[in-house]
Order: sequence, then C-alpha cells, then structure tokens
Amino acid sequence: MKKRATQGMILIGTVLSLALLAGCAAPPEEYTSASFAMNTVVSQTAYGPRVQQAMQEVNQMLAGQEKRLSLYGGEGDIARINAAAGGGGTEVAPETAGLLRQAQALSAQSEGAFAVTVAPLTLAWGITGDSPRVVPQEELDGLLPLVDDTLLRVEGQTVWLPKEGMGIDLGGIAKGAACAGARQIYEENGVESALLSIGGNVYARGTKPDGSPWKVGFRDPQGGEESYIATFHLRDEVVAVSGGYERYFEQDGKKYIHIIHPRTGLPVESDILSVGVIDPDGAVADFWSTTLFVWGRDKALGYLRRGGKAVLLDNQNRLYVSAALREDFALVAAAGTGYELHFVEAEGAA
Ligand code: AMP
Ligand code: MG
Repeated sequence: MKKRATQGMILIGTVLSLALLAGCAAPPEEYTSASFAMNTVVSQTAYGPRVQQAMQEVNQMLAGQEKRLSLYGGEGDIARINAAAGGGGTEVAPETAGLLRQAQALSAQSEGAFAVTVAPLTLAWGITGDSPRVVPQEELDGLLPLVDDTLLRVEGQTVWLPKEGMGIDLGGIAKGAACAGARQIYEENGVESALLSIGGNVYARGTKPDGSPWKVGFRDPQGGEESYIATFHLRDEVVAVSGGYERYFEQDGKKYIHIIHPRTGLPVESDILSVGVIDPDGAVADFWSTTLFVWGRDKALGYLRRGGKAVLLDNQNRLYVSAALREDFALVAAAGTGYELHFVEAEGAA
C-alpha cells in the first residue's frame, strides 16, 4: 500500500480489488500528478477518458488562482485590491469576485472568528513568510480597526476596501475553493473518479474504479508526516483540515501559529489540535475548518450537533466524530489505545 503524506490528510494508495486483478476487464489506467501550488504540495490520482488533460487543467487553474489570490506585490486581483485600499474600486476576475462574495457571506456566520480582511494581521505576524515576528501590542491596536469584513464591498466585479491599510487574505478558504474549481474541470473532462489533495484539503470524486470508496487518513498532529490516527471514506466531498501544528514559529519557548484571532490580533491558542470538516463545497469545508479551530472545542462541537460533518481532536486526546460518519470511520488500531473516541449525534437525530 502506498502512502502519501499531505498536510492534514493522508492519501491511502489505491488497492485494486481482486475482481479487477482477476481480470474480467482490464482495470482502467491510473494517472497521477504531483506539483506545488498555493504554497503547498498538490497531488492528483485520477481515472477517465481525458484524465491527463483534466489533470493539466487543474494544475493550470491552481497556478492561475495562486496568482489572482496572492497578497504580495504583482498584478494579481487581491494584491491590486489591497494596494488600492482607501482609494477607488478594483476590477477583478469573476472567479475572484465570486469567491469574495462567498467568503464574506460565510464569514458572517463565524461570529468574528473568521475574517476575509485579516491581512493586516497576517502580514504583520508574517508567520507563513520568511521573517515572522512577535507584533507589539501598540502595533496590534493600530491594526485591529482595519480588520472588518462588513466594510468590504463587492459589486459585480468591482471590489472596494474603504480604509488605507486594509487588506484581504483568502488563505483560510482558497485551497478548499480550489477543490471546487477542480471538481468542475474533472466534470467537463468526463473524469468520474479522482482524488485531489491540496495541502490539508482533499477532494474525492466518485469512487475508485472498482466501486470502493476513496479513503483518507486523519493525521496524527503529534506524529510524523505519515502517521495517522483514523481513516474515513469520502465520496464527492472535500475534507479541509486546520491545525496549529504545521505553520508556526517559536520564540522564547512560545509557539505562534498561522491562524490569527481577528478580535485580539493574536495567534490563536486553541484547545483543538486538529479539525477536519467535510462538505461537498470545498470552500465551505475550508471556511469551517478554520472557524472551528478559532472557536475551540466546546463551541465547535455545536457545529457537529447541528449536523455538520467533522472530525475534531482536542488537546486531551479526545477525538470527536460526527455520528453521520460512523459507518465510514475507523480508528487506526495501533493508535487506538491513546485516543478517546466520541461520536457526536446531530440534534434531533435518534
Ligand atoms: P487554514 O489553514 O485553512 O485554517 O487557513 C489559515 C490561513 O488563513 C492563514 O495562513 C491565513 O492566510 C488565513 N487566516 C489566518 N487567520 C485567519 C482568520 N481568523 N480568518 C480567516 N483567515 C485567516
Ligand atoms: Mg480553512
């Protein structure tokens, strides 16, 4: 069995069924592609008539999205919006405007935990960049009034940020949104069976060619890149994972992670080690994974009780799993003893 590590999820390699190996019909050919985009490793495994074309288009789409959404310099949509903050509106691609509208609408459900306009804070901390630093409180006090999603205006393809110094950072939703973009490309190319991983976000399309479901691993945040504590099946859904264990920097023995609380301006100290959210819409899954991480365990469990599908590991080695995933979920035997497993029923369910 091949295993490939991704940031939050592990892809468990294809095992062809005995029936296919026995060879009534030749198994469809598997194609794989590995690349680097959006600051992370991208891998695709897919089957279908125009699979190579589709995989190439997905890689092109990711490169295009990376350019459009990049915060730094350049001619990308987000960089231009950020540079124009406090001035006139900026014309952007329809995809950018659409994603901004979706992100702003989702952000309104986060009760202040998620902010599309978090860029002044993420840039000041620089945790995903080359020179992270601890931002002094006086500086944070100056930046916090600039973080306010209600001020962002998107009309048609024109975007305004009213105050100088404001900025958009779609890092909390972009990879999931890219999964949604890939889904369309696979569809257009007749690819009905595919597994795509973009960092901690995995999209499973259809089933494997033998009809069995795609299986992904939920990474052990305390273990190595290839260790996982549980597996579950994914069907035509995206799982997005957020955690503090991969992108952070340390100073004077303190860890500063890449998710910043929009209200305090400080890197979040969550009692969640890792949370994976599963949704048919990749952007929605990615939005909620970041939001639940910021919310912390108790509030995040409310999302599961309301019927949201998620896997959540807290800092007490308690693993919470939506009851809807029960049939599809398995603890990895070797890790099983260390974790306390709780299935969370949706409210109103039996
Ligand atoms: P994720 O890995 O999906 O949880 O997203 C983390 C990324 O989202 C960070 O690297 C930032 O680009 C961005 N981000 C950080 N804090 C927030 C926040 N509170 N709301 C929205 N996006 C954020
Ligand atoms: Mg996210």
